[in-house]
Amino acid sequence: MADFDVDLFVIGAGSGGVRAARIAAGYGKRVMVAEEFRIGGTCVIRGCVPKKLYVYASRFVDEFEDAAGYGWTIPQKPTFDWRRLVDSKEKEISRLSGIYRANLERAGVAIEETRATIEDPNCVRLEADGRLVRARYILVATGASPVMEPAVPGIEHAISSNEVFDLPELPRRLLIVGGGYIAVEFASMLARLGVQVTMCMRADNVLRGFDEDMRNGMRDALVHAGVSFHFGALPLLIEKSASGYRVTLTDGGEAFSDQVMLATGRRPHTRALGLENADVAVDEVGAIKVDAHSRTSTPSIFAVGDVTNRINLTPVAIREGHAFADSVFGEKPTLVSHANVPTAVFTTPEIGTVGFTETEARRTHDIVDIYQASFRPMKATLSGRQEKTIMKIIVDGKHDKVLGVHILGHEAGEMAQLLGIAIKMGASKADFDATMAVHPTAAEELVTMRTRTARHVR
Ligand code: NDP
Repeated sequence: MADFDVDLFVIGAGSGGVRAARIAAGYGKRVMVAEEFRIGGTCVIRGCVPKKLYVYASRFVDEFEDAAGYGWTIPQKPTFDWRRLVDSKEKEISRLSGIYRANLERAGVAIEETRATIEDPNCVRLEADGRLVRARYILVATGASPVMEPAVPGIEHAISSNEVFDLPELPRRLLIVGGGYIAVEFASMLARLGVQVTMCMRADNVLRGFDEDMRNGMRDALVHAGVSFHFGALPLLIEKSASGYRVTLTDGGEAFSDQVMLATGRRPHTRALGLENADVAVDEVGAIKVDAHSRTSTPSIFAVGDVTNRINLTPVAIREGHAFADSVFGEKPTLVSHANVPTAVFTTPEIGTVGFTETEARRTHDIVDIYQASFRPMKATLSGRQEKTIMKIIVDGKHDKVLGVHILGHEAGEMAQLLGIAIKMGASKADFDATMAVHPTAAEELVTMRTRTARHVR
């Protein structure tokens, strides 16, 4: 039998890679992990975690405004210090990165802070010193990176969400290109922090793939937050001007801005990784092709997380990494279910969603019943804030099974987490109806919507 230096070599210390490394080490295996940037990966360093911290920062603006309706007088107009937020964020993500490192070390995982590439199906090269490490298994968990498209003249002036977190100062005006998760989250957050945000996107609405009522509600909430839109429009030319950038748009319009941020998707990080040295197959966007066990076309190499472009969310990568380690090293064959994954969009208000959209349900089911409510949240009564909460339950009209739930409202992400359990268990509309309300909450609407708002028969 070949003589291996380690049982597992993990490329990438993000959510998926770290979990797989720790669990494999827990089974007594010799594990090495390589990371070329910072331990923790996109989620901890320049994704979910700093994003949520910035979202919290932005929400104080609404709180200050709402306070008056509840009897408060705020003596001075509150001021905001971007640098202080960036510094505090940096402290927190360094702390979290340190915890990730400590957990790896405690588990006995060797950490190499360098880029690593694949030499052959059982060998990895460490770029820092050229060392070769022979591994029984290799796990690729390199994630994804922002797509810098459309490739128009002047695109080199544009930044991605990676850079926004650490800008030396907040731009006065920002053009965001794209209408997906990242685009709307940054638009909502930065508009509250005082940035004049303009969004342009090729579609005619934000958040393609989400339920139409959520998309419309989100667009209205962003307009309300002061965001301007160019739908069906992309940059044609980005030129530096005396005061920032002048962006010519495909709809004939122009946008003047201090920064241009691209949020046009993320692409699996597989370039120059040496995958061809081991015949690891990738698809047309460069994602590593894997089977249900996260095994690539080469039996000794596995891949988890965004690099496989299945469902690009941190908890999914963590589950995939855990299942891989349990299956390969723990004699516990485990499959990850990618069905009914709850998710949230951290705008203000948030979207929380699980299961089928109305469009998907109507495409796949003969009878689809819709229960929908739209109301002013209680807090907005005294504050006078113009805001709507939208809740929508999608039911298989034949079998009474709840197919999907979609919420636009405060704490919708928290609600989606709990709804995820009910939907995973196969809850029926009758189960929702039989559940006692928690009063007064917004979520009680989910168990008190008795009247069907629409029935669609195929
Ligand atoms: P999304 O896929 O959500 O959105 C991409 C946007 O860019 C869409 O508006 C899309 O348009 C547009 N687009 C794609 N390609 C081009 C192109 N070549 N030219 C012009 N426009 C283009 O990607 P994001 O970058 O927002 O986020 C990446 C991933 O990160 C998400 O898919 C998600 O999985 C994850 N994420 C999750 C978050 C969460 O859970 N809260 C938060 C942030 C990110 P169109 O709609 O027309 O296709």
